[in-house]
Amino acid sequence: MHEYSLAHALLQALTDHLREHPVRGRIRAVHVRKGELLILSEEALAEAWRILAEGTAAAGSELQIERVPVKVRCGSCGYAGPVRYSTDEGWHFAVPVLSCPRCGGRAEVVEGRELAIVGLSVDEDSSEAG
Ligand SMILES: [Zn+2]
Repeated sequence: MHEYSLAHALLQALTDHLREHPVRGRIRAVHVRKGELLILSEEALAEAWRILAEGTAAAGSELQIERVPVKVRCGSCGYAGPVRYSTDEGWHFAVPVLSCPRCGGRAEVVEGRELAIVGLSVDEDSSEAG
């Protein structure tokens, strides 16, 4: 299961991060950026996270998924920025077009494939003052 291994990789990254930067208090939410080109079920990812986080520092935390739009860079005309979207009949969502919106040339994807933790929401331990 794709989402399960992604959740596992996220949890591994979080564990490594916490080893270097421990937090005081309970992790309430883990903020994740998900590129639009990364095809996955957010529900399945959140569910896998709940299961895998059991017994770790992230137990009981929720994944907060932020979608990152696709950005490209064009080698021909130097364009850098968002892509056009095509909304064909029969599609349930807009599909990013991975060619340069300015000159139509082949464009390199610079954002939109990533899945990364960008922040944590922690309930501070209230018994600690200052
Ligand atoms: Zn171009």
